Amino acid sequence: MGLSAEKRQKIDEIFKAGGYTDYKWIDPQKIVVAQWVRLKCQFGCGEYGHGGACPPNTPPVAECERFFREYSDAIILHFEGVMDKPEDRHAWSRKINAKLVKLEREVFLAGCERAFLLFMDSCCFCKECTGDRQTCKEPRMARPAPEAMAVDVYSTVRQFGFPIDVRTEYDQKMDRYAFLMVY
Ligand code: SF4
Repeated sequence: MGLSAEKRQKIDEIFKAGGYTDYKWIDPQKIVVAQWVRLKCQFGCGEYGHGGACPPNTPPVAECERFFREYSDAIILHFEGVMDKPEDRHAWSRKINAKLVKLEREVFLAGCERAFLLFMDSCCFCKECTGDRQTCKEPRMARPAPEAMAVDVYSTVRQFGFPIDVRTEYDQKMDRYAFLMVY
């Protein structure tokens, strides 16, 4: 059973008040979870083992899949960015993710006790990440990105008509996605 129309409307109002317009409600059963995503984290990503909200600090893939099945509704939020320099990305993501944590809290306070947010990029609140959950400097704020929860973001967002492509140059427009899980 999905959220009541009343609750959905309340969440839409929260989004509107926060200035979010580029988002879509989706069926969370359509979120694609895949083992290859975890392998990409393990081999090829410099943040593996160095990000407090990245693998191996996130659950195994099978548990990630189970997590998504415990929700009746989800919202995908789209963010577009063009960076002058590659290092500008972290400041951009930090600002958006800090605002998204507040959004999650507002939705929680509106009566959605399971509200859980997945960041639009890896957690980069601190200049030096401690690399594990126990010593995380912002344990109440840090959240995993969808990829850290083994979400195949490409296949998932394309189902809903969102743009996403592999970028070959840093100065190309980036399409980033956050997910808000609700029940
Ligand atoms: S809040 Fe800081 S220490 Fe914690 S995961 Fe994010 S960057 Fe790492």
